[in-house]
Amino acid sequence: MRTPGKPLDPIAAALAARSRGELKSAGAWLDGAGLGARREVVERAVAGGSEAPDEWEELDGRRLLRALLARGEAAQVRTTPIARDEAFRCLKCEHDVPVGGRRPRDHCPVCLHSLHVDVVPGDRAATCWGLLVPVAIDPERKGMMIRYRCARCGEERRNRVLDDVSPPDSRAAVLALVRARSHPPE
Ligand SMILES: [Zn+2]
Ligand SMILES: [Zn+2]
Repeated sequence: MRTPGKPLDPIAAALAARSRGELKSAGAWLDGAGLGARREVVERAVAGGSEAPDEWEELDGRRLLRALLARGEAAQVRTTPIARDEAFRCLKCEHDVPVGGRRPRDHCPVCLHSLHVDVVPGDRAATCWGLLVPVAIDPERKGMMIRYRCARCGEERRNRVLDDVSPPDSRAAVLALVRARSHPPE
């Protein structure tokens, strides 16, 4: 897909560098291109969702491009939810849970438990795989949210109550959580 010859926009080419070789040659270009080009590279990377490293004026070109690339990818990982809808067997109650259809099924409709498998919704990037235990219901403007605490790592997560998919979340299970919130065990 790459057109041969020199690209018209060396800054765009530098920001598109991915392989070791591309980063090396783009970095060498940047080292000789002066502070104005360097500033423009950083500004465009930041506009594209990356973050400028503090030492952006001192880093050699290759290191600067690598830092911008890594920060851009980290920002993408943090902010891009994926609508992944999968059937599964609940590890808590062993209910066979079908896909949500209208919305991604991210917890069991019977016992409301979930699994700590995502860093951002749908990415399956978490390495914990602990059971997410529902601890409370948070009423929000857009609907009710189930608050979770991971039984393995303690992290808190939230999933939306699914009341418009088939089967919907158990109203009894949701109500029990609402009551647990107004009478917290101490
Ligand atoms: Zn379950
Ligand atoms: Zn966890």
